[in-house]
Amino acid sequence: MSPSSATDTDVLVIGGGNAALCAALTAREAGASVLMLESAPRDWRGGNSVHTRNLRCMHDAPQDVLTDAYPEEEFWQDLLKVTGGQTDEALARLVIRSSSTCREWMKRHGVRFQPSLSGTLHLSRTNAFFMGGGKALVNAYYRSAESAGVAIRYATPVDALEIADGAFVAARAGGERFAARTCVVASGGFESNREWLREAWGRNERGEWPADNFVVRGTRYNMGVVLRDLIAKGADAVGDPTQSHCVAVDARAPLYDGGICTRVDCVSLGVMVNRDGERFYDEGEDFWPKRYAIWGRLVAMQPDQIGHAIIDAKAIGRFMPPVFPGEQAATLQELARKLRLPEAAFMKTISEYNAACRVGTFDHAVLDDCRTEGLAPPKTHWARPIETPPFSGYALKPGITFTYLGVKVDRHAAVRFAGRPSGNLFAAGEVMAGNVLGKGYTAGVGMTIGTAFGRIAGASAAQAAHGAFDAAA
Ligand SMILES: Cc1cc2nc3c(=O)[nH]c(=O)nc-3n(C[C@H](O)[C@H](O)[C@H](O)COP(=O)(O)OP(=O)(O)OC[C@H]3O[C@@H](n4cnc5c(N)ncnc54)[C@H](O)[C@@H]3O)c2cc1C
Repeated sequence: MSPSSATDTDVLVIGGGNAALCAALTAREAGASVLMLESAPRDWRGGNSVHTRNLRCMHDAPQDVLTDAYPEEEFWQDLLKVTGGQTDEALARLVIRSSSTCREWMKRHGVRFQPSLSGTLHLSRTNAFFMGGGKALVNAYYRSAESAGVAIRYATPVDALEIADGAFVAARAGGERFAARTCVVASGGFESNREWLREAWGRNERGEWPADNFVVRGTRYNMGVVLRDLIAKGADAVGDPTQSHCVAVDARAPLYDGGICTRVDCVSLGVMVNRDGERFYDEGEDFWPKRYAIWGRLVAMQPDQIGHAIIDAKAIGRFMPPVFPGEQAATLQELARKLRLPEAAFMKTISEYNAACRVGTFDHAVLDDCRTEGLAPPKTHWARPIETPPFSGYALKPGITFTYLGVKVDRHAAVRFAGRPSGNLFAAGEVMAGNVLGKGYTAGVGMTIGTAFGRIAGASAAQAAHGAFDAAA
């Protein structure tokens, strides 16, 4: 389709992931003409959404793939806890409520669900899993969008927006200009932008630039260009640029798009040491699903931004095996050599740890009474000596999932300029998730926010295009 020079497009959607697709489909259902601009070429479309597995859903009674109940109040308390209060309650409750009804709409657009996968994250009550994962979800939405007449341009990264007095006028991509009556920005965070990450993380006391050693777990296309442009043009910002969801992933992971198969989930069953063979944090502080997302940042603070998860044979079979096996050895000395760890320091760490273990009744499903005594840092649960060969070790690096800086929105998804809502510019997904999730994370909430606000933004944009949007309502 040729670029629109006049306003022959009702709704321009910037982005090509879950939030963008939800917005485009909803606007189209409301009778608007829609053009989507996706930065990635067709083969790489869909942003981080292709890597997802599930979304978190409120429900008062068992629902198809979801067991038991997960009421609004419990979902809200979970969100409140992980964000430490850095959330907008009204917007959060809007997201939570819409999660109880969105699956019927998703199914109408071809998304299929399946019961929770077994493994280390026990989510059968709270999270609905996509059959075929996020890739199948994104493909289903694209098929639905194409058959509904949504126009899609791939390989079209937007460089800048034209904004006049808080109102969207046009988007520019390369030499092209795309005018439209309204716009939904759904272009993700800035986690793929290594320069911006470097700037946000800065230089540490060892003279290192930690972000240089990060890998990006998802797409390479979330460069934050539209986010930066919006903030520079007066959009109100929310969230902290240094905050991100950051996991310790297999150090052999590719720079981009390693996805979930680079996760290594054995940390709580063994010990973690740094480059110098020293432990640096309590590996048994809490259940792994509540702690896995802190280890990226912890490893980022270590020399060379590297950690090594060490386990013995007792741990095998108790965690989801990583796709790529780690180093294995019959002795701890041999393991140290294979991992290029200083042997003497490593052996001292392990023998001090082993001597400090007070083993009670081991149970990985509860916060058990196996702990260390007189050791700094302690291991407060699941502490058992590392003594049974074969021994295994995995080198881990920080893997960034997404950043938290975004634009402020209201319940209509309208972008705010100096506290005033725009009449025709809306935002959805990771680019505004910081309104609900100022820090921390609870599994599946990224897709819940994107689905809820994608649909809200699409509906608001269609209304605005037809002159029926009341920003003050
Ligand atoms: C490995 C991994 C696993 C995850 N698992 C889950 C999970 O199971 N459940 C969950 O809830 N969340 C999960 N998340 C988080 C989830 O991916 C995000 O919360 C969600 O996908 C955000 O959706 P979005 O549409 O806002 O962004 P994205 O899906 O990232 O889409 C952003 C889109 O914008 C496009 N874009 C960027 N800049 C421009 C530009 N300038 N012009 C045009 N287009 C642009 C990109 O190409 C992309 O298509 C996971 C993330 C990763 C990386």
